[in-house]
Amino acid sequence: MPIKRNSIFNYNPATLFPLTIYADACRVSLDDEKVGPSTTAMTTTTEYHMSDALLHHFSALGAVKVGEPMRTHTTFRTGGPADVLLCPRDAAATAEAVRIAVDNSIPLTVIGGGSNLLVGDRGIRGLTIRCAYDGPAGEGLRLETDGAVYADAFVKKSEFIQFCIDRGLEGMEFMAGIPGCLGGGIVMNAGTTLGNFSDIVRRVVYVDTAGTIREMPVTKDMAGYRRLEIGGNPIITGAYFALKESADTGAVRGRIRGILQERSAKHPLDYPSAGSVFKNPDGHSSWKLINDAGLRGCRIGGAMVSELHTNFIINFDNATSKDILDCIEHVRERVLARFGLVLEPEIRVIGEI
Ligand SMILES: Cc1cc2nc3c(=O)[nH]c(=O)nc-3n(C[C@H](O)[C@H](O)[C@H](O)COP(=O)(O)OP(=O)(O)OC[C@H]3O[C@@H](n4cnc5c(N)ncnc54)[C@H](O)[C@@H]3O)c2cc1C
Repeated sequence: MPIKRNSIFNYNPATLFPLTIYADACRVSLDDEKVGPSTTAMTTTTEYHMSDALLHHFSALGAVKVGEPMRTHTTFRTGGPADVLLCPRDAAATAEAVRIAVDNSIPLTVIGGGSNLLVGDRGIRGLTIRCAYDGPAGEGLRLETDGAVYADAFVKKSEFIQFCIDRGLEGMEFMAGIPGCLGGGIVMNAGTTLGNFSDIVRRVVYVDTAGTIREMPVTKDMAGYRRLEIGGNPIITGAYFALKESADTGAVRGRIRGILQERSAKHPLDYPSAGSVFKNPDGHSSWKLINDAGLRGCRIGGAMVSELHTNFIINFDNATSKDILDCIEHVRERVLARFGLVLEPEIRVIGEI
């Protein structure tokens, strides 16, 4: 399967993790104070060869789909086809997939539950490793003898919460209602005012860019605003979490119910989205800036600034990723013009627009 396509970003085929390249390229233009048309700024060519033998090799490592529409793997419900999507069986299979990709100069992209991603309408070239699991709950979780919880990266946050409650633990309530998997939560240092992943993750297991499985302690100084500074573009395959024993699991359940109720009242959960689109600038709330700039309900194509929560952009009516990106840039332009503040996206943009 010879594949040659134009890539909008400055992609270097020798680089293993184009995800970072794409995200960084996008961030560069999105962070540009001029807020110009970022998505067509750079054009290079991505070229690689995916032979049937390689596909066969990948399919021995887990479920493989060719030309898989990414809209079925993102909460925005947009995004074109991934050339090859692999859900590796385990960490060893993930490591082997990385080694094959490296040896054959195949661009590599990593996703989790797809709840913080905007994938380009032309899809993702090369191999996309999906660290998410659709099987029965309870897989990939165990209580260690020292009281820590080990969880595979592909475990959903909701399943992790249930596992911890069932074992009389607390401290993970903050992740109630945050979609996606643990790996994505760790990389994003996902959280709310109630807590972040970095508060409870003590150690990560990961595959490095050479395809070796390693472990690393997670320290407080690695915690950033919606990112964990792990370095070296690892693929997280699992983590150890430190949680407290709870004196009252009924109270934990009650807190979680309360959080979920509050979130469903405040968030436009009836429409596809990726949650809050922008980080809060220092001393400001993005939703308020967007609201005060008169953008509540603003529509571009099928994308719309939510009327319920103005930091959410929703897929209101069969939006394309381009509609959503245009909406993002429109919001940024208007907020910059009105308040002189640059909104920095929290969501990550990958693939070809
Ligand atoms: C309705 C809604 C509400 C939300 N509320 C919140 C909230 O309250 N707080 C919050 O922080 N976020 C929130 N989000 C955003 C999102 O759910 C979180 O960022 C989530 O943790 C992303 O996890 P994921 O598995 O979906 O990751 P993805 O979106 O698939 O990926 C996110 C990033 O992590 C990387 N990644 C994913 N898995 C791995 C892995 N195993 N190894 C290496 N890299 C990986 C991807 O490359 C990408 O850069 C919300 C989203 C929605 C749709």
